[in-house]
Amino acid sequence: MKSFVCLFCDIVRGEAKSFVVYRDSDYTAFLDRYPISPGHTLVVPNRHFQDYVSTDEDVLMGIQPVIRRVARGVMKGLGADGVRIGTNVGRSAGQVIFHLHFHVIPTWSKGIPPRFNSFVPRKEMSDEEFEIVRSAIAEALM
Ligand SMILES: [Zn+2]
Repeated sequence: MKSFVCLFCDIVRGEAKSFVVYRDSDYTAFLDRYPISPGHTLVVPNRHFQDYVSTDEDVLMGIQPVIRRVARGVMKGLGADGVRIGTNVGRSAGQVIFHLHFHVIPTWSKGIPPRFNSFVPRKEMSDEEFEIVRSAIAEALM
């Protein structure tokens, strides 16, 4: 029985559309639907926790290597020079989905590469574009 609706729980279970770059028994990483930059990825625990401050410590410990691995994959797969890593706690901080997630947001010293010339921040990319980005990151994670 489902006691509440959570988009990220649905994504973890494969019941909601998403572009998954990494998945194991405890954590899942998938592309943000409204990316700040191309390759903006979210890393979540498969178990539901509302936010960073209410998450079990062992889960926070366990997610750290996954975040780092995804950050490396995003940089390698997309040729990014850096990433921003962060998490928002509470509506006032900008949290929208109340299932703990860490943002991994690629950055380029010369700006977003020309191949993403149709990119508009916080606007959904086409499924084709999302899939190109997803596979580039997923391959870099292998
Ligand atoms: Zn959830």
